[in-house]
Amino acid sequence: MRLTRYFLPVLKENPAEAQIVSHRYMLRAGMIKQQAAGIYSWLPLGYRVLRRIEEIVHEEQVRAGHIPLLMPTLQPADLWRESGRYDAYGPEMLRLKDRHEREMLYGPTNEEMITDIFRAHVSSYKDLPLTLYHIQWKFRDEMRPRFGVMRGREFLMKDGYNFDIDRDAALHAYNRHMVSYLRTYERMGLTAIPMRAASGPIGGDDTHEFLVLAQTGESEVFYDDRVTALKLGDRQIDYDDRAQVAEVCREFTTLYARTDETHDPALFDQIPEAHRKVGRGIEVGQIFYFGTKYSAALGATVVTASGEKVPVEMGSHGIGVSRLLGAIIEASHDDRGIIWPEGVTPFPVGIVNLKQGDGAADAACERLYGMLKAQGLEPLYDDRDERAGAKFATMDLIGLPWRLTVGPRGLAAGKVELTCRRSGASEEMSPEAAVDRLTEIYAAHR
Ligand code: ATP
Ligand code: MG
Repeated sequence: MRLTRYFLPVLKENPAEAQIVSHRYMLRAGMIKQQAAGIYSWLPLGYRVLRRIEEIVHEEQVRAGHIPLLMPTLQPADLWRESGRYDAYGPEMLRLKDRHEREMLYGPTNEEMITDIFRAHVSSYKDLPLTLYHIQWKFRDEMRPRFGVMRGREFLMKDGYNFDIDRDAALHAYNRHMVSYLRTYERMGLTAIPMRAASGPIGGDDTHEFLVLAQTGESEVFYDDRVTALKLGDRQIDYDDRAQVAEVCREFTTLYARTDETHDPALFDQIPEAHRKVGRGIEVGQIFYFGTKYSAALGATVVTASGEKVPVEMGSHGIGVSRLLGAIIEASHDDRGIIWPEGVTPFPVGIVNLKQGDGAADAACERLYGMLKAQGLEPLYDDRDERAGAKFATMDLIGLPWRLTVGPRGLAAGKVELTCRRSGASEEMSPEAAVDRLTEIYAAHR
């Protein structure tokens, strides 16, 4: 992508309405535009990251054996009357009527609808286990939408629902989600800690929230700081292996980590003083096991191997896809701008031409551009007729993890400069070596 042909409405001034750094940088980097309280347009740069995050979520869900589908944003009120949640949900639910005076709502979540799909088409244990998920816009008329995409009213969520024959199978689905979520967040360069939480309007007794530690987080958290060092890394997971998946979950949930709702001061005091931490976190996901709460209410039953008709066991599992952009920026930035982890960056590398219009510099940039594209690494080429300082400032603000700087002086020696956004370290090398290096770096993130 050439910057002169792109749409990147960068702001020079700090927007007054932004209270936290992620909101400020998303506005300044031209990623989003507010259209109403808690409702945003996703401008091209923001949309690229959003799509990248969606892609990772999809890949990890499919890897875990879960099946994508797509349910609508608008739902009939009657379905929610069956579960009793139409009255229970309160003013966060956006209710509307169509031209025939039929009551509708903009879905805040989809337990009822997925249960309706299940009861229409599945009736035998032979069709289980089954986990269906979608990535779809939700609406919750939050009392205080704030912090940009962190607490929006319209927001993008991945929500998945497991259907299982018995409690053990449903608990395996719960564990499978935990592991697939850990992998999802790690690929985004995030440490998200599973913490025992309270279930709220979804219901059920087993639930964990995934929290990214950040001072701007809305949740108070209590934890043993050794949890922050746990990593899945590149270990192989067989998602059908109940024992292995349960063991990974145990590893990640044995150390104390809780939100204020489930915090137990007596247990917390048993952590060695040096590891006992109180902090704040951003909730980027939550998993629930709730058994037959919705299946019993909506009559979603299956016939077991012994011929008995039982309500199907269920759980639901959500990832805050749009909130993740804010969470990643809160966790990865400096005073010049965003620092995207390679896994989610909108462009893998930026090319800065120090002397636009100079024959040799222009030609070298074009050549680099072509070589990178051939490797599947679409660069953002700053081909504006601007000062070097302004180009560097833009690249730093939008946070591409790598920058290639091309100028007549380096070219005279056959070199370009490769700079790491995170460390600031620069190295001169031939264009070929730079392309090789970037290809190698990104191979680990595909
Ligand atoms: P919160 O406690 O932050 O209001 P929640 O527990 O009500 O969230 P869930 O029902 O667990 O939310 O939804 C799954 C995920 O969707 C959350 O973990 C969060 O990442 C995201 N999410 C929830 N509400 C919002 C919102 N208003 N804006 C952006 N993302 C949200
Ligand atoms: Mg939650």
